[in-house]
Amino acid sequence: MNRNRKNEIDISGKEFQKLGYELIDKISDFIDSINTRSVTTTKSPSQLQSTLGNDPLPEKGSSPKELLSKTSELLFDNSLFNGHPKFMGYITSSAAPLGALADLLAAAVNPNVGAQILSPIATEIEKQTIKWLGEFIGVPSHFGGLLVSGGNMANFTAFLAARTAKAPKSIKELGITNTSHSMTVYCSKATHTWIEKAVILFGLGTNSIRWIATTQDNKLNEKILEETIKNDIESGHTPLMVIGTAGDVSTGVVDNLKSLSTICKKHDLWFHIDGAYGIPAAVIPALKDIFHGMAEADSIALDPHKWLYSPLEAGCTLVKNPQHLIDTFSSHPEYYNFSNPEGENTQNYYEFGLQNSRGFRALKVWMTLQHIGRSGYEKLISEDIDLSKSMFALAQKHSELEAITQNLSIATFRYIPIELSNELESHDLYLNELNETLLNTLQAGGEVFLSNAVINDQYCLRACIVNFRTTEKDIEEIMETVVREGRKTHISLSRKV
Ligand SMILES: *Cc1c(COP(=O)(O)O)cnc(C)c1O
Repeated sequence: MNRNRKNEIDISGKEFQKLGYELIDKISDFIDSINTRSVTTTKSPSQLQSTLGNDPLPEKGSSPKELLSKTSELLFDNSLFNGHPKFMGYITSSAAPLGALADLLAAAVNPNVGAQILSPIATEIEKQTIKWLGEFIGVPSHFGGLLVSGGNMANFTAFLAARTAKAPKSIKELGITNTSHSMTVYCSKATHTWIEKAVILFGLGTNSIRWIATTQDNKLNEKILEETIKNDIESGHTPLMVIGTAGDVSTGVVDNLKSLSTICKKHDLWFHIDGAYGIPAAVIPALKDIFHGMAEADSIALDPHKWLYSPLEAGCTLVKNPQHLIDTFSSHPEYYNFSNPEGENTQNYYEFGLQNSRGFRALKVWMTLQHIGRSGYEKLISEDIDLSKSMFALAQKHSELEAITQNLSIATFRYIPIELSNELESHDLYLNELNETLLNTLQAGGEVFLSNAVINDQYCLRACIVNFRTTEKDIEEIMETVVREGRKTHISLSRKV
């Protein structure tokens, strides 16, 4: 074997610098020009496939300079830009540019944040990030947890901790099939689809979900919740957990967390809050009341890659007593030499969640929290909420728009042709078709990106503003676009009839 192992994969510092500077120049131009670009590509999947071509796996390597240049063009020309000021679909935020640099730095050092010994400072940085996220939303300092890939994983992690804590103690040895207890979980219809995945994946089955009706204002109905729990206990079921949502995906409603917590305490159930979208708004003092009771949760899911503007992926599970995570996820294979040095408070993150090897996703969150600071976030999140309120007000004022809901930074509304505005109910089916067609037209057009919500069987347009680039002017222009395209869509649909 050669004493000097020379190879293609190891790029020298000098070469890396040249490649890196060129790439950074391209990314900088991209950041400065994002406002002037189309929000998304108009190319179809098959057009995109032909752009890539159908070559087999390359036999030989190629130059990184060319690769970087071609690939950045490929991405800048054919992507949907959730950082565009007129992107407000689903809940996908614009990403802090500093996060991109943090990800580059994290990948360059490449710590494995599964074990402390493999990631000495990175483990401490993740611990501090978790502590700061707890302080950000306002829970006591004994909450602990870890970063995961996103909201679904954050909720799964908490769900599994709840299952360990509240299921019969034999579940770890006997598995879920060998218990005679039928376990139940409680949530409203507004709960995100993660709960269905969770009960399917983790053995409870979809029949274990008790879908609790909501009140007029779309919050989980506590009276029905408590009756259902009591009935289940009387029928010999084993209730495990109640899930409250802090900012539901469709309309941004926050459940009455305090009353849910009281019911959970009374019946010894785990109280989980899915705050993947909305809980960062708790940083705003004026909104503290909406989140009252949050600190009493056994676990909380939140998503730095949503309203903390971190680049994908970053989710977070916080647990009131982190020992529940260790009880659920810790195992000690003999080939791990990860024991604690005497007297040291060591934390090995593989014992806290589903992953073993783990990347350094904490770095971008940790750096952005310091870059923006609490007051900076308070301002950004308040501005997003104010823009959403402006949008709702514009819909209320416009004779061809119907404003439907506004909570946190989500507004929903419909396009209504003037001649139908006095007889909405008899045209409900048509208005649904019209607004669905309108949404598809808008999404394909690339001028603005909204998504949809179905509220009381009405198909609505939905804008969720988690976007530090959006301005009042963008909002006004978006509403003009909606009305302009709404009129066109109505004309072409009525011609068909
Ligand atoms: C976005 C969201 C999820 C899912 O989070 P991902 O990061 O997409 O996995 C779950 N619950 C709520 C309330 C959400 O807003």
